[in-house]
Amino acid sequence: MTSAGLESGLGLASYASRADQSRGRRHPEPAAPGRSVFQRDRDRIVHSTAFRKLLYKTQVFVNHEGDLFRTRLTHSLEVAQIARSVARRLRLDEELTEAICLAHDLGHTPFGHAGQHSLNRALQDASAGLQGFEHNLQSLRVVDRLEHRYADFDGLNLCFETREGILKHCSIRLATRLGEVGQRFLDRQSPSLEAQLANLADEVAYNHHDLDDGLRSGLLVFEEVQEQALVAPHLRRLTTQYPGLDRDRLVCELIRGMINEQIDDLTQSTLSRLVANGIETAAQVREMASPLVGFSDEMGPKVQALKSFLRQRLYRHPRVVEMTTVAELVVSDLFGLALAARQDHEAPHLARREAADEIAGLTDRQAMLRHADCFPGRAQWPARVSL
Ligand code: MG
Repeated sequence: MTSAGLESGLGLASYASRADQSRGRRHPEPAAPGRSVFQRDRDRIVHSTAFRKLLYKTQVFVNHEGDLFRTRLTHSLEVAQIARSVARRLRLDEELTEAICLAHDLGHTPFGHAGQHSLNRALQDASAGLQGFEHNLQSLRVVDRLEHRYADFDGLNLCFETREGILKHCSIRLATRLGEVGQRFLDRQSPSLEAQLANLADEVAYNHHDLDDGLRSGLLVFEEVQEQALVAPHLRRLTTQYPGLDRDRLVCELIRGMINEQIDDLTQSTLSRLVANGIETAAQVREMASPLVGFSDEMGPKVQALKSFLRQRLYRHPRVVEMTTVAELVVSDLFGLALAARQDHEAPHLARREAADEIAGLTDRQAMLRHADCFPGRAQWPARVSL
């Protein structure tokens, strides 16, 4: 391997994405003095309306349930922070990494996955050219079309590299309709290392903050959490080093230790994989059929075990399921109203897509208020879990 980075003159590794070699924007724009194209993308995302709405969108807990729970906004900031730590160590482009992280959840509906399930059902009609609702694709729609802030174009006109990073997954059927940003799914190739990193950082962030929020809410039981393979060694270390440490600080230290361990593992394993595959350029990264950013063989299964623990004990907790059921009803009712308002639309499948865009763009609060106005008393939200 070359001694990566020195040749770029920017402190970047030779396999990093380069702002000065971007494949560009859909609508060409003059360069901005003093700001790279990826930095501009990051700034556009932060200034967007969709980004501000993330503050009032559910991660796991509905926004009104407690002021300390993560929202999509704080989740996105934690993803960006974790990804930047690794990007700096791998000498990747931090601004591109951050832009992808901050934009990755812009397409989320109100009430998290519950809202997505509801809209997905409403948009299942292949004969009408509708192929469901998927939040990755919706994030791309937000930055490509739904933000209306610029005189010359719809959307934020982001660079190809930022857009491809936002589109984490995509079916082959849909990829054929997405143009250049869908091409890698057809070619079975990989996105940039920055995009791969944003994807992994998302997982690291939600595994740990959901653990934290789950414990704070009382829905997760500490005695069960401490048996997790990722948790146990940190707990042993901390109880030896700080006997009698109070529970709240113990949980913070546990999570801090776990995130640091996974960031180290992710960095070292990715570097090893880059060397093992002889990767020296960003183009070689893209030719790979599988991602290069990832955990070691020892860490991977432990992370999977934590994910399945969270799925069983938190995401499928009766209290969360109760919230999800009400949320699905609310989103489905509001979609019905939005569609009825478009009954004279000349293209019914477009009417459905536009209704979905409208409802997906609501915050939790907007959705709850609109529903309470239009269907008084119909939504019985479970009691708050925390003050
Ligand atoms: Mg996310």
